[in-house]
Amino acid sequence: MATTVTSGTQTPPQLPKHKVKIKKAGQRACNEKNEKGKFCGGHLKHWFYTTDVLEQACGDVEKAWGRDAEVYRCEHCKTLYLPNPEESGGLNVAGSGQISIFGLTVPPKK
Ligand SMILES: [Zn+2]
Repeated sequence: MATTVTSGTQTPPQLPKHKVKIKKAGQRACNEKNEKGKFCGGHLKHWFYTTDVLEQACGDVEKAWGRDAEVYRCEHCKTLYLPNPEESGGLNVAGSGQISIFGLTVPPKK
């Protein structure tokens, strides 16, 4: 299987009411920076948006990804994290390595 992607597409499509990032393999804490340039550090929790009342009122996530996508959310700043494709497939391809673009900090869209 050679479906591993991608250089330069690590910023997933943003949702109208949510900021969306991709989780690094093994990442457990939010690396979003606040306006002072400090890391948020909030825990990333598996987020069951279909049972989240507020999200159901909003509906963004379900519209974009369907009803049972795997999504994590920072408990602090509410940034959404999609699982790393290398991690969620359960396939650990040795040697493929981390791609350095994960280190990028994407400025908030205005
Ligand atoms: Zn955060």
